[in-house]
Amino acid sequence: MSDDIFAKAIARLDNAARHADIHPETVNRLRHPKQFLEVSIPVRMDDGTQRVFTGFRCRHDDTRGPGKGGIRFHPNVSAAEVKALAFWMTCKCATVGIPMGGGKGGIIVDPHKLSKKELERLSRGYMRAVAHNVGPDVDVPAPDVYTNATIMAWMMDEYSTIVGKHSPAVITGKPVELGGSLGRGDATGRGGFYCLRELATRRNWNPADKTIAIQGFGNAGQHFAQLASQVGYKVTAISDSRGAIHDPAGLDIDQQIQTKTTTGRLANAGSTITNEALLELSVDILVPAALENVITESNAANIGASVVVELANGPTTAPADQILHNAGTLVIPDILANAGGVTVSYFEWAQNKSGYAWTLEEVHERLNTIMAREFNAVHDLMDTINTDMRTACYAHALNRLAKAHEVKGTAAMFAS
Ligand code: NAD
Repeated sequence: MSDDIFAKAIARLDNAARHADIHPETVNRLRHPKQFLEVSIPVRMDDGTQRVFTGFRCRHDDTRGPGKGGIRFHPNVSAAEVKALAFWMTCKCATVGIPMGGGKGGIIVDPHKLSKKELERLSRGYMRAVAHNVGPDVDVPAPDVYTNATIMAWMMDEYSTIVGKHSPAVITGKPVELGGSLGRGDATGRGGFYCLRELATRRNWNPADKTIAIQGFGNAGQHFAQLASQVGYKVTAISDSRGAIHDPAGLDIDQQIQTKTTTGRLANAGSTITNEALLELSVDILVPAALENVITESNAANIGASVVVELANGPTTAPADQILHNAGTLVIPDILANAGGVTVSYFEWAQNKSGYAWTLEEVHERLNTIMAREFNAVHDLMDTINTDMRTACYAHALNRLAKAHEVKGTAAMFAS
């Protein structure tokens, strides 16, 4: 991600604000993250030397509730990226109406170059450095790129030691044994699938007549593929970082998941194609579920699908968005399509705060209610304001944010 990513994120805010019932003061407030923290984390390495790592935590907006957003361990983490991702989290939480704001964090590090012990020291050091700026009622981190349930467990443990009490609600994405929620594993793919199901109902689709191509067969892509194929959709292409496979007759998704899980590779099936060619297949539904910026100005005109479900964060660039919209392609945007993940993270926080553990059925039922309600609200707004679905989604989020900000007063109220 380049350094102007925060500026680009804010540009989408300006565009959507024209379609939302929001005061210019509120838009201006959202331009500025509420808090941005840069920390240095000294770590004693296994060879006895000390290395100092740089970490960040941003709480973009907490008007609707404590910050919420992952912690990324990656060599390319930057201040601008963390701010942009925190802003997106503010919009994502407001899109689905959960009572949380936007947060994000990260450390500039290649975790694959650290030993397990160094990784634990770094994770605990990060939590010590940000402990006074996070918390169950302040800002609630979660896993992101190259962080996982074990790292969340170390951080929760460190935070609990600092505040002197068991505090599972400080962080989500924990192992279930330490207060993690059932149903978090497949929540992102499931939330995206619920969006597709609602669209299919609106369009009177028979799933058996529709084909799907999925770029990225990891957590999000696999679960989406499984749920879609279970109701009859034909998944004709999937891919991982090595390349894609394509079979117009439909792939055996259970077999592919089993092979990918046990061998780390896709099973041989159909023909082999490139990841770029997968995006341009003439399927009904395209699901980018791997990387950002894969649908760009240079390939948008060649996208064959009439519906794009963005499970990945930021897979479509702004110019590509325009090309797809002009061509009549519906893009279900990331902040809605992949919001199932943060929604079940919110469930985890709510369970931890209340001391209850919900059954898997309860988690699915509550996720279903939220995703169906918010997908249809965004679709209705899109029809009313006659925009692409991303703009409608941001406008929907901004309407909620505006209400929360403006109930405390605007210039007009204080002038009267
Ligand atoms: P993952 O690591 O489980 O899977 C990623 C998949 O993408 C893997 O199959 C990998 O092989 C593949 N991939 C990597 N490089 C590729 C390339 N160049 N071309 C094609 N495929 C490639 O990750 P995930 O959790 O499934 O996340 C995927 C996307 O969804 C990311 O953009 C992530 O930010 C987003 N997302 C995930 C969640 C979640 O809860 N997992 C929530 C919100 C958003």
